Amino acid sequence: MKLGCPTEIKPQEYRVGLTPNAAREAVAHGHEVLIQSGAGIGAGFEDADYIAAGARIVDTAAEIFAEAEMVVKVKEPQPAERAMLRPGQLLFTYLHLAPDPEQTQDLLRSGATCIAYETVSDRMGGLPLLAPMSEVAGRLAPQMGAWALQKANGGRGVLLGGVPGVGPAKVVVLGGGNVGTHAARIAAGMGAEVTVLDRSLPRLRYLDDVFASQFRNRYSTEGAVAELLAEADMVIGAVLIPGAAAPKLVTREMLADLKPGSVLVDVAIDQGGCFETSKPTTHDDPVYEVDGIQHYCVANMPGAVPRSSTIALGNATLPFVLALADKGWKAACAADPHLAEGLNVHDGRLTNAAVGAALGLEA
Ligand code: NAD
Repeated sequence: MKLGCPTEIKPQEYRVGLTPNAAREAVAHGHEVLIQSGAGIGAGFEDADYIAAGARIVDTAAEIFAEAEMVVKVKEPQPAERAMLRPGQLLFTYLHLAPDPEQTQDLLRSGATCIAYETVSDRMGGLPLLAPMSEVAGRLAPQMGAWALQKANGGRGVLLGGVPGVGPAKVVVLGGGNVGTHAARIAAGMGAEVTVLDRSLPRLRYLDDVFASQFRNRYSTEGAVAELLAEADMVIGAVLIPGAAAPKLVTREMLADLKPGSVLVDVAIDQGGCFETSKPTTHDDPVYEVDGIQHYCVANMPGAVPRSSTIALGNATLPFVLALADKGWKAACAADPHLAEGLNVHDGRLTNAAVGAALGLEA
């Protein structure tokens, strides 16, 4: 099959759909790989790296969309890209169609077959192509929070790990799923005293079994949150209720219980945020203050580390890219019901019931 990977054109997107290593594997499977010149630059991959992997470099996205049977990307196709999709072409990327009727209509009109990373599932009921980005965001959260805790950045002037004779900072993590566990591990690794709250007892048992020596865990109630807030230097929001807006676990009133200059890092901001005072921010201007409390609420945190994010995403997408290229999408989806759950659009029809329900369209 002929695979194509264009340069991402969404503002501030530096990741790339195929790494040179992924291109090398596809070539080894007998496929032809086309890469737009410069597509990997934002993630630190040169055209020469792709050429060494056996890929062919082309100048424009138009050439990719005209020639490739499967287009592999990161972000949802932008209007100019949607206009280049062809009937019968396969698109494999993040789509997030549910809140985006305009993109949905364009994809339906294109006649292309579109498989969305975010709805591919796994045997455990997880979302394997979202998980790597949660891991990245979780591991970044204490790093960003530590920066915001510095005095010059508006924070309390507290060092996460303390020093001999000075106690460490206290970090509270709301939600002990993917994001929360990775955040807690890094915060604990930086020397902070960390407590993770979750409402799932099985999850708390897992955290206790595996991480009891690194951080504590508590069942998440309003009372427990209030109690821990009073002591916290940093609170990381990492809750998720699938399909729903994030619950507001910290109200504006509760900010008065925090110490001035404390930091809230709301990773759940892409689901509305779990602090009442959260609003989305960008990497250019990531932190703002409300009632003396610093808020970091960047909605695409993995964008801060495009090289790590690209490689992490590429590791997760590669088996699916190879299955789609080797077998064609029909046979690949027939062989793997979890990949089939990624199918969102085919031949002018929506094919994912949950996405259809969110858009009020038949699927
Ligand atoms: P997850 O499903 O793995 O974990 C969520 C956890 O929250 C679960 O363990 C659940 O039991 C827990 N939870 C639910 N309600 C709770 C409550 N009231 N109190 C405490 N815990 C509660 O999800 P995840 O992959 O860790 O993602 C967490 C959030 O981070 C999601 O909103 C996700 O979209 C977001 N995210 C944001 C970015 C970003 O760049 N900002 C990147 C990746 C993920």
